[in-house]
Amino acid sequence: MPDDLFLRASADVKKKYLSFPTLSREFQALLEGDMEYCVLDFETTGFDAARDRIIEIGAILATGDKAVGRLSTLINPGCEIPCQIRMLTEIDDEMVSGAPSMDEFFEEFVEFLGERTIVAYSRFEEDFLRALYDRMGHGRFTNPYIDAHDLATMLMPSLRGHRQADLAGIWGIDTGRTHRAMDDAETLLHVFHVLVNGLYNVSVALLRALADHGPAHAGGLTLLARRVLDERTGGRKPEALNLDDVAQKDRFWENIPPLDGLSAPCHVPAEEVRAIFASAGPLARQFGDYEERDEQTEMAEATRRAFEEDSILLIEAGTGTGKSLAYLAPAVLVSKATGYPVVVSTRTLNLQDQLHTKDLPTLEGALGEGSFRYSVLKGYSNYLCLRKLQTLVSGRKRLSERQLGAFGMLLTWITESETGDVSLLNVPHLHGLDELVMANHRECPGGRCKFAQGGYCFYRRALYRARRSHIVVVNHSLLLAGVNFPFKSVIIDEAHTLEDVATDQFTVELEYRETRRFLESLYDPVDGSGFLADLDATVIRRLPSEAHDAARFELIEAGEAAEIACEGLEKLFMTLCAFRAGSEYEFNDIRFTSGQTRLLEYEKMKLEAKEFATSLETLAARITRVKSVCEERGTAAAELDYLMSDLEGKAARVREHAGALAIMFSDEDDGRVRWATVTSEDNFEKQALRVSPVDVGSDLREAIFDNEAISSVVLTSATLTVNNAFDFFRSRVGLNLPGGAAPEECILNSSFDYSRQMQILILHDMPPPNSSDYEARIADVLGDVILAARGGVLALFTNRRLMLKTYEQLVGEMRRHGLNLLCQQPGYSRRRLAEEFVEDSNASLFGTSSFWEGVDARGSTLRVVVVTRIPFESPGKPVFVARSERVKLEGGSDFMDFGLPLAALRLKQGAGRLIRTRQDRGQVLLMDSRINTQRYGQTLLRSLPGAKRRKVSTDDLKRAISEFHGRR
Ligand code: SF4
Repeated sequence: MPDDLFLRASADVKKKYLSFPTLSREFQALLEGDMEYCVLDFETTGFDAARDRIIEIGAILATGDKAVGRLSTLINPGCEIPCQIRMLTEIDDEMVSGAPSMDEFFEEFVEFLGERTIVAYSRFEEDFLRALYDRMGHGRFTNPYIDAHDLATMLMPSLRGHRQADLAGIWGIDTGRTHRAMDDAETLLHVFHVLVNGLYNVSVALLRALADHGPAHAGGLTLLARRVLDERTGGRKPEALNLDDVAQKDRFWENIPPLDGLSAPCHVPAEEVRAIFASAGPLARQFGDYEERDEQTEMAEATRRAFEEDSILLIEAGTGTGKSLAYLAPAVLVSKATGYPVVVSTRTLNLQDQLHTKDLPTLEGALGEGSFRYSVLKGYSNYLCLRKLQTLVSGRKRLSERQLGAFGMLLTWITESETGDVSLLNVPHLHGLDELVMANHRECPGGRCKFAQGGYCFYRRALYRARRSHIVVVNHSLLLAGVNFPFKSVIIDEAHTLEDVATDQFTVELEYRETRRFLESLYDPVDGSGFLADLDATVIRRLPSEAHDAARFELIEAGEAAEIACEGLEKLFMTLCAFRAGSEYEFNDIRFTSGQTRLLEYEKMKLEAKEFATSLETLAARITRVKSVCEERGTAAAELDYLMSDLEGKAARVREHAGALAIMFSDEDDGRVRWATVTSEDNFEKQALRVSPVDVGSDLREAIFDNEAISSVVLTSATLTVNNAFDFFRSRVGLNLPGGAAPEECILNSSFDYSRQMQILILHDMPPPNSSDYEARIADVLGDVILAARGGVLALFTNRRLMLKTYEQLVGEMRRHGLNLLCQQPGYSRRRLAEEFVEDSNASLFGTSSFWEGVDARGSTLRVVVVTRIPFESPGKPVFVARSERVKLEGGSDFMDFGLPLAALRLKQGAGRLIRTRQDRGQVLLMDSRINTQRYGQTLLRSLPGAKRRKVSTDDLKRAISEFHGRR
């Protein structure tokens, strides 16, 4: 059983999940008769329901827990089966040549399904059924549909993986041949039975919440929840769910003493820090195979000195230095000496997880159990707000079936989670529930909230913990937004990402989808639900009658204003589509240059933005009026307390949107870049308008470097220098500005023996990437590399289209050789791909931007990193272009002083994937011949570790790889 799946589950929660197959249930009454159901699985030619075709159907008719009929057939799709599908399913063109076509089989299939509930393990089958019914002229597909994956995430939110095979694995269910329709359907039938057992054992209050909030046209999940509820309660309505009863509410902080220390200038003796890393020191006792590393001790000492001298320190520490422990150990001692927490800031969830679940417990083990305390803190918007969730539970809002699954998941999760941090859930998003359930600082009444007073608000629990911790792990966004407790020292790990995070943080943004969800959360004209409607139903009715009428009038006006604002939003973003200018790409980032702002379309958009802003101001004013009426005439002050903060918060957020529009369409030249993400008219959900800083230096100085409350800052990463100097990094984050303190600098080489562990191959006879031959050759070369290395290849691309094309060309051939090829295709989870790659030593992986950093494949899994092209930034990125122009304006070279150093750092990050431990060996293959032919190639090569370099031709390549890996 993969224990990793339970990484975020307590022992009790794990026990509960594992017990689902043996829980008692009364199945007979539940899913038979009119709730007979059909378990369904399709194999298809691809993922696009409109374009791709079904090639195999596996369907099981079931009643109660018994299968009573089966239908299994191949289908001739009338087109060639793509290679990767042939490899995945082992269904080829010959096998389907004698099978019926869908035209021939449709009637029989539809008759088998009837109007029964369909159970499948995603929405994939539903999408194909809809498209199929439509194509066959059969009307709309309207059967109730249960996505068992939603059920799984709802019942087991703390599990790290929810693939059908994951569940079958933990419950010991035989999966047969995966990716064959009937075998997958048989597995699903068993998995579904176990999931229903789980549902049968959740609280009736939770079932009632699901039953109450299901959509008006109840789907499969709603019907199932209602059926189970009816059976459990005999038709009586149970008490509504009260989160007070289920949320965790131990007042743990009462047992945690506040930090004590001298609060005086920090002094920690150097020997004390060195002793921790000594060969007979506490860390050595903790690890069986501990080796003292000079670089690690040097880094720890440099960090200690920076704290003591109140300075800013830049440390580049190559991989293998053990940098996390090197900064954590002095940080703990400093915190204990001063009585202030030390803040450690990271960019990625991966590093945050590693610090919290590995490095900090290791250090605690070494220094003594309970010798220091540590915690994780994020910004408000990462935490579930129990008050908002309770409002949703108690309100009348109808949710879609997908939202209902996410809603159920959150209700289960609050009984299991210590943190309420939704990024720890194994779901990509909450299907738009965010606005209704996530904490927001503007709407939080703080200590007046009953969930805060009771000690079970997730955010405030995290904050309490942080205040009493010696080490607090935060993310860069929170650090820049402002950490809500006093501290004096901060360590910024993954500091190479600081400019990007600061750019995001200081960008003013208006996203279509978020704004629409916010406005609809105030008042949704479709079903008359929302915050304003809930107010009427709950609080306003309880006001004295004269106040009631006045408040109600204002509420109606506010609802109308919200509707008008929504219309304004639609018009504005519809006009934005005109800037797409016939582009073939799904998304286009466009910059509003002075040329663009003279266009008629821009003038039109500006007018619409003005109207929209006016409607937002009216809405804010109406909400404020509701508040005034309640304040003036309400008597039940305690009851109105929440209302006041909600109304204030909502009005402030509406005004924020209006303010963003004013900044976006301002004529003033404020040195920022105005740009937008534009999509087509039929998909404008993901459009956004943005204003970004060209230079984040002054913002960073204000937030961190010149912040008087912060006395020392350590910035570290494995990739901060270009040409062995920090100049580029300093210039990007404002550490080169006149008048500012000059930072200390320290470069620590990796403790790996690169001359032995790594080889850099430079392919000198590839055509340049912009030539027409390049694309034709790339698949041949990569095929040779994968075969020679027998997999274990990570190929990094800068162009998604080329990556997908190369993958299509190679996947079949590689599978014939028994080598798995993975690719970052649309809809694939990045984390899951990286895990599959690490688990299968014969697999190779093709990835774009996000794979240039963050893949941590230790051991022999990763043998060759291929850099297909120098990772120069795309000239289509508005912020990059504006920054290039700024560098030129200031007398520099946009290429040598900006584009090239950025690419060098990127290259270094890509190559850094290869060697993660002292035992690893591998090659970096540079396929871009410009590294060999252009002068700047040397700058790029200097950014790579000091491994042996070898120039090879494409003819020699296979031999060079085989030799290195000891194969002939
Ligand atoms: S204190 Fe704020 S964040 Fe916490 S539950 Fe209450 S309203 Fe939500």
